[in-house]
Amino acid sequence: MLKAILISKQDGAQSVRLADLEESELPDAPVTVRVEYSTINYKDGLAITGKSPVVRKFPMVPGIDLAGVVEKSTSDAWRSGDRVLLNGWGVGEGHWGGFAQKARVNGEWLQRVPESFTSRQAMAIGTAGYTASLCVDALVRHGLTPDKGDVLVTGASGGVGSVAIALLARAGFKIVASTGKTNEGDYLKALGARDVIDRNELAQPGKPLQKERWAAVVDSVGSQTLANACAQTRYRGLVTACGLAQGMDFPASVAPFILRGVSLLGIDSVMAPRELRQPAWDRLARDLDAASLDRISTVIGLAEVPNAAQNIVSGRIRGRVVVDVNG
Ligand code: NDP
Repeated sequence: MLKAILISKQDGAQSVRLADLEESELPDAPVTVRVEYSTINYKDGLAITGKSPVVRKFPMVPGIDLAGVVEKSTSDAWRSGDRVLLNGWGVGEGHWGGFAQKARVNGEWLQRVPESFTSRQAMAIGTAGYTASLCVDALVRHGLTPDKGDVLVTGASGGVGSVAIALLARAGFKIVASTGKTNEGDYLKALGARDVIDRNELAQPGKPLQKERWAAVVDSVGSQTLANACAQTRYRGLVTACGLAQGMDFPASVAPFILRGVSLLGIDSVMAPRELRQPAWDRLARDLDAASLDRISTVIGLAEVPNAAQNIVSGRIRGRVVVDVNG
């Protein structure tokens, strides 16, 4: 028997419970992983609360991330005892995911846990942190250097935001953190933000072109915030868009793109190819220390997952929540 969070749907109504499953109920796939840790991402919050149609098949074990040890494998790439992690690939959406003591998955979805990280630290990073690293990689690949000016990070106290600040600070960038949690100024500065602004400054409709402030932006909020961030980006500046915490809409004009040569870079973590994933994890392994990971993360057990899911969609979580599936 193994414990798992299970989402079911009956007569159109979704329910979530901590279930005892037989191992034989796991989906058929080549690699069985003894999961040690998972983590709560915003998308897991949407799946468990049913706020957005993230889950495509019922019943579903949610959890888009997992880290653990290979128990059995018929894939040539993995052997029993290998330390592995998984981010995305539709796991926790269309294939049973990480909020369980075991998972059965495809070998191509797995990658090695970097030597410098424990499973718990890998999940303190999780999809949110790996996406932050994809954002920083995209900015650097498009020519961003610290001398170009300030970098704005929106949704700063969230998972993507917190890791983005730590990575950018380590790479020598000056960061301005936009947050709704103005009491978290010390937390954001300890991660490496130089200044903290109230997210209300960016949340309301603004002019198509505004005072040029940012050499680059890491945005996980979308909607009006992303529109204003683009309108405030300097000539030939860069904006990465990866999230929708404020909204899925983008009420902007083309002015920043055609008059200031601003580039908007879309970031997807779920189906990102290996040639983007590996450098992102290499950056995390190189630039994130244990102290930063401890600062951003808290640990909960499987039974607390439904409550944490409510909290993340309500914007009440700071940093990252790691799930000890055996806790
Ligand atoms: P979190 O919930 O940890 O962080 C989101 C943060 O956004 C909150 O902490 C809050 O920060 C801010 N926020 C919340 N509600 C609002 C609002 N109404 N208006 C403005 N700001 C708000 O989530 P993650 O960091 O894990 O994910 C952030 C976003 O990125 C999500 O939309 C997620 O779906 C998306 N994402 C996309 C990925 C991809 O592949 N493209 C991968 C990973 C995440 P504060 O209080 O500091 O303002």
